[in-house]
Formats: sequence, structure tokens, C-alpha cells
Amino acid sequence: MTFEMKKKKLSEIANLLKKFQKFIITSHTNLDGDALGSELGLYFILKQLGKNVKIVNQDHVPMIYKFMPGIDKIISSDTFDKKNLVEIEVDTVLIVLDSSNWERIGNIPLDIRKINTIINIDHHTSNNGFGHINYVDSSASSVGEIIFQLCLELNCELTKEIAITLFSAIVTDTGSFRYANTKADTFLAAYHLVKSGANPHLITDYIYNNNKISTLKLLGESLLKLQVDSKSKISWTIVTKEMMENTFAKEEETEGIIDKILAIKKVQIAVLFRETKDGKIKVSFRSRGKFNVDLFAQQFGGGGHPNASGCQIEGDINNISKLILDKLIEEFYFLEKI
Ligand code: 5GP
Ligand code: MN
Repeated sequence: MTFEMKKKKLSEIANLLKKFQKFIITSHTNLDGDALGSELGLYFILKQLGKNVKIVNQDHVPMIYKFMPGIDKIISSDTFDKKNLVEIEVDTVLIVLDSSNWERIGNIPLDIRKINTIINIDHHTSNNGFGHINYVDSSASSVGEIIFQLCLELNCELTKEIAITLFSAIVTDTGSFRYANTKADTFLAAYHLVKSGANPHLITDYIYNNNKISTLKLLGESLLKLQVDSKSKISWTIVTKEMMENTFAKEEETEGIIDKILAIKKVQIAVLFRETKDGKIKVSFRSRGKFNVDLFAQQFGGGGHPNASGCQIEGDINNISKLILDKLIEEFYFLEKI
């Protein structure tokens, strides 16, 4: 999208937000900082416009994001009585954030069939345009950065709540401004958010220096299982249900492991295989070179970004890791030769 196209599309969305009165915001399963930060940033923007807004997600809020203003307002299906669906009227608008396809939002306690207007706001290249109105800007570091632009477009005041939540979204999706998605515009947004009351030290201290003992024990266990291929360019490790039980860690505490095994000299791609509660294998990919892990994960029904992606597969962890690693090693070295 050119700058003019973005501007036009963003003003279309801004007009819709002004026109309608009732909104429900949702995002993907396995909530991350961008999902939550952009949901809450948009929530406060819509509240400023005098709208009726609810945030509804399938999953619960991970502990490290509990500091965000407004976090206690989020409804999750984990804690929700499924018989009491969130009320929907004919003019209720559903806004889906940070989700490349409809399946990513999981099961939320809503009667989706009643929704007549779905706005899809995302930054994944692979977004399939499932909304009635779609705003997909793959050059944006995060959905938080898009919501910041939307806030400007709406002439809303950048309150401290909006600043903190959107800064959290941006800082987490850019790996603290280190990933390749970090552009000048990302810093421009961050500049305004910090000016408006987001404290980078306090926010990152809360997110990154708030580990539980169980998180570090699980990290230790999984690092013991670390392996690399013969040329040390691909690293991988596993997290089994048994390791989770031994360390008393929750699923959300696996978050930082893959970054550790990507930060090894020469390593270009890191893979984490994890047994989930529901009996599947969750595979996470990270790349710090040219290899596109979004395209790779799509072969297994997943997706994401060129440098960070994932998929979920049913089966045994040893068989799946072998299948995926064989294919990855083959594709990676084939492309390296070209
Ligand atoms: P993570 O490995 O942290 O769960 O996910 C990394 C990135 O890949 C995120 O941007 C996330 O949106 C995307 N991703 C993870 N799992 C899936 C999946 O099953 N399907 C799709 N389409 N994207 C995924
Ligand atoms: Mn994101």
C-alpha cells in the first residue's frame, strides 16, 4: 500500500468507528503483547469517542501483561459461562486485531452469526482478508503501531492509558526495537507514546524482569535439550508435558525460550517444539536471516511473519520434530546454495 492508499483506508475505518456505537474487540489465541496492547489502546480510543466497547478473547491474560491499564475489563472464554454469550445487536461491530485468518481467534463466547460488520486490522502479510473491511499493513511493526496511526487520524487525545498499552504492543512485537520490522515510523510512534506518558523502563521492567522461578527452571530444562544441525545454522529444542509438570510452569511461560536459542553465534533459524495441554504439538519458528519462516510454516497450516511464525500439528513430538527438521534443513541449505 502506498502512503496515500493507507491514509484513505485508515480514514474509512475512522469514519466507521465514528458512525457505529457498539463494538466488540478480539484477537488471536495465545495472547501476546501486541494483541493485548492494541486491543486496550483501541478500547480507550473508542471510549474517548463515547462508544460502548467490550474486549472478548478465547484465552486468559498472561501474568506479564497484567500491569496494562484496563486489563481487568477483558472477558475471556476461560472464565466465561458459555451459556451467557456476550450480547450482540444488529449494529454491533466486531474488530479483529493481529489475526491473519478467522480461525486464529479460536472460540470466543459470541454468536458470530449475528455480526454484520467485521473490521480486520492486521500486519501479517498472509492475512486472507476475512473481514468486511480489511486494513492490513505488513510494513507496520505491530498492530499497536497501526492503532497509533488510527488515533491520530481520529484526532483523539493520546492519553496515558493509550500511550502505555500501545507502547507495550510495539515494544513486544519488535523484540524491544531489535527485530527487522523496526522502522523509523516505529520510533516515531514510540516517541509520541513516551511523550504522552509511556515509561519504557517501567513497561519493559514489568514485561521482561518479572519472571517466575518456574519460567527459569523450564528455560533451564529446555536449554539442556538444545541441539543444532551439523553446520550450526539451525537450532531447536523441545518442551514436553513432563517438563512443564516438573517445573510447575504454565504454557505462557515458554515464551522466551526460542529467543534464547536464536541468539547463538551462526544460528539463522530456531525452532521450538512444545506439547500442548490439548495433545497437539505447537511449533514456533524464528529467523534472523533471509529465510522466510512464514512461508515455511504455511506448509504445515500455520503462518506468521517472515521472521517469526508458528503452526500446530497433531501427533508425536519426536515424529513431528523429525519431519519438520528434515524439511527445514533441506529447504534452508537448498536456498543457501542459490
Ligand atoms: P509464536 O511462535 O510466538 O506463537 O508465534 C509467532 C508468530 O507466528 C506470531 O506472529 C503469530 O501470529 C504467528 N503464528 C503462530 N502460530 C500460528 C498459527 O498456528 N497460524 C498462523 N497463521 N500464525 C501463527
Ligand atoms: Mn502482532
